[in-house]
Amino acid sequence: MKYFIQTYGCQMNYSDSERLTTVLKKLGYKECDHYNKADLIILNTCSVKQNADNRIYGLGEPFAELKKKNPKLKIGITGCAIRKGTGIRGECKDQIFRRMDTVDFVFRIKDLMQVPEILRKLHHVEGADEVKDLLNYFHIDPTVANITQVFIPIMSGCNNFCAYCIVPYARGREESRSMSEILEEVEKMAKRGAKEVNLVGQNVNTYKPSDASPDSKETPFTQLLRKIDAVQGIDRIRFYTVHPKDMTDDVINLYGELKSMVPHLHLPVQSGSNSVLKRMNRLYTVERFKELVSKMRKKMPNISISTDIIVGFCGEAEEEFMESVNLIKDEKIDLVYVSKYSERPGTLAQKELEDDVSDDVKKERFEKITEIMKDVSHEYNQQFLGKTVQVLVEKVAKGYASGKIPEYKMCRFKSDDPSLIGEYINVKVDKAMEWCLEGDVVA
Ligand code: SF4
Repeated sequence: MKYFIQTYGCQMNYSDSERLTTVLKKLGYKECDHYNKADLIILNTCSVKQNADNRIYGLGEPFAELKKKNPKLKIGITGCAIRKGTGIRGECKDQIFRRMDTVDFVFRIKDLMQVPEILRKLHHVEGADEVKDLLNYFHIDPTVANITQVFIPIMSGCNNFCAYCIVPYARGREESRSMSEILEEVEKMAKRGAKEVNLVGQNVNTYKPSDASPDSKETPFTQLLRKIDAVQGIDRIRFYTVHPKDMTDDVINLYGELKSMVPHLHLPVQSGSNSVLKRMNRLYTVERFKELVSKMRKKMPNISISTDIIVGFCGEAEEEFMESVNLIKDEKIDLVYVSKYSERPGTLAQKELEDDVSDDVKKERFEKITEIMKDVSHEYNQQFLGKTVQVLVEKVAKGYASGKIPEYKMCRFKSDDPSLIGEYINVKVDKAMEWCLEGDVVA
């Protein structure tokens, strides 16, 4: 039996898919490279942003065709599109069964350990009992896509209720993984060759494990960062996502102190307008965001700051949108993940606010932010001209090797050598474009 997993959305979903892969492999499924060859297709969905649900529902017809050709084919859905638990068609009442009659089962990612039992019913696979020994989601050894840059979940769920977001309903409340277990996984990955650790969770600053040191003056997340920094072989730590209301000074103080804290922080602001932030229920102000950026820049003057912006949120007036534009320019935010607001059923915004900004205006605002970001990013990248940067190579294709520098910028150089993947290579930059640096290898 062959499986195909399609993952949408954030790092958390990619990390979840790595754990799902391990479970399927233990059940005897073999990976295939296209969904039309699979006997099992699983979509790991994201519905934080616009059109994500539509993309999934648009697959209904192609899946019906595939099922005609392959009667064994089963289709499962997980991720943020799931609202009502885990189960197979007829047993579980999730709305997705009504909207897609080709779907056979759904599961919340925290119920991953129920998947073997579901597949025993649907595909008569064996091995479900053996897989039960994995106990729970966090204990699964992930099948990582790129061993040098690993994604490690430290928590799941969210206790915030941002008005536009479905995650707290889809994933439930925050649940933190123990520090000892995370450390064990990091050490194991480091021995296999990991160099960069990406810690993932919906709100990493509120990480609250059972085994944090109660006497420490530092937050548990800071304690965790210190321990990971001390793991031999780990040179870069990144983390996603930080909530501006919960970011603490003790984390900021680690920049410049710990060797593996890279000069890059993703700090999602969502809007540059206090009135929009209030409607979004984000519970901080633009001033708080600016204060955090300023503190980070005091620690690391050239740090790269990236953010998320939603344009066209309920009632967003032109002046409110312009506050977002000005924030990006004034604070020199060099990477913005911009999205057009769209209503998600079940969220506070859908229940209480009107999605009243037209699609044309949302599109215009999306394009404007993208243009401004290009300028800011281009300007930021000029600082690397003539300098030597350290590239952690991720890919070799079309005559170039490329990978990220600590500031989270892609840098490429001429090479056809696939053995460079996973290696640090020093590159002297001679071109600094909007999205990419380019240069020559130096000894
Ligand atoms: S912090 Fe807000 S946006 Fe992030 S996952 Fe939680 S509810 Fe969603």
